Amino acid sequence: MAKIILTGDRPTGRLHIGHYVGSLRERVQLQNSGVYDKVFIMIADAQALTDNADNPEKIRQNIIEVALDYLACGLDPKKSVIFIQSQIPQLCELSFYYMNLVTVSRLQRNPTVKAEIQARNFETSIPVGFFTYPISQAADITAFQATTVPVGEDQMPMLEQTREIVRKFNTTYGETLTEPEILLSGNETCQRLPGTDGKAKMSKSIGNCIYLSETADEIKKKVMNMYTDPDHIRVADPGKIEGNTVFTYLDAFCTDDHFKRYLPDYNNLDELKAHYQRGGLGDVKVKKFLYAILMEYLEPIKKRRTEFEKDIPAVYKMLQEGSVKAEAVAAETLAAVKKAMRINYFDDTELIKGQIKRFQKK
Ligand code: ATP
Ligand code: MG
Repeated sequence: MAKIILTGDRPTGRLHIGHYVGSLRERVQLQNSGVYDKVFIMIADAQALTDNADNPEKIRQNIIEVALDYLACGLDPKKSVIFIQSQIPQLCELSFYYMNLVTVSRLQRNPTVKAEIQARNFETSIPVGFFTYPISQAADITAFQATTVPVGEDQMPMLEQTREIVRKFNTTYGETLTEPEILLSGNETCQRLPGTDGKAKMSKSIGNCIYLSETADEIKKKVMNMYTDPDHIRVADPGKIEGNTVFTYLDAFCTDDHFKRYLPDYNNLDELKAHYQRGGLGDVKVKKFLYAILMEYLEPIKKRRTEFEKDIPAVYKMLQEGSVKAEAVAAETLAAVKKAMRINYFDDTELIKGQIKRFQKK
């Protein structure tokens, strides 16, 4: 069986370091690994509209931002098909048929959707499109017969929902769709990076982010203001690591090599943590270390982004070409789905022959 990747992002803002460690970095590695037959990367504008219906301009403006972040991180249109969701009409058709295979109560149980409804203050006025986006996500994944979906931990319920739809479809209509596997980062902290406020997951819609394209000054300011241990007042005080966002980010980003370069007094993160816990290590020193590490990751990304920003029409052309390629693949799957569901009336000669016989008998 071909190995196929599908993943993507909502164009609700520029991409942040949570995306980088949660999915983007891994995607680039997988793209370059040679193990996968096809890689599809989707800018999920239609999904972004489900909770931004009154602000389409926000989505329109952020498509290019996400595309630039992709290219800056090393996604390569020669190796990956990068496309825009709304330009693939087959995805809507697939969603429409999958809706019949899912119950309202099943959707209501989705913990990520529940948390997102709360974060967006929808209360009782939840847009139907938003409520059903896990179904549309199943359409996105299955349209490309994806076997592997590299995403952050918040996507686990979506993947489970997709797998259920695939099983239900295949048992009802015959083997047609591929059941995908989720691929999470091996580093648990990377699966769900918290925001700089130390509360919810870092998320464009909450605004607690460090963006990949941010200036050095902005990043420094954000790191210096990051939430640590509120009881760690004097340098001599013992500090807490749990819930201390600076250490959480170090868990996600720091390697032993970084100590050699920036903090040679320590061999590794365990030693730094132990010092913080027994007291005598100030927040500022740890934050400066984190800042140096982040800049090491982000500087080359920002540099590459600046290069791609010089030819914006080329980026749109790349998205358009990707969308044409993606549509052709989705059309094949939709045809197979319609055939399996027996709603392919005009290309089924057996149907017409059968009907002729039926009406001749009368
Ligand atoms: P929004 O607030 O609009 O939902 P977002 O910041 O949650 O935006 P998405 O576009 O929804 O970003 O997510 C894109 C991908 O990045 C998904 O695979 C998601 O799991 C992953 N991701 C998003 N935020 C994080 C995070 N804080 N840590 C790890 N992975 C993340
Ligand atoms: Mg999200």
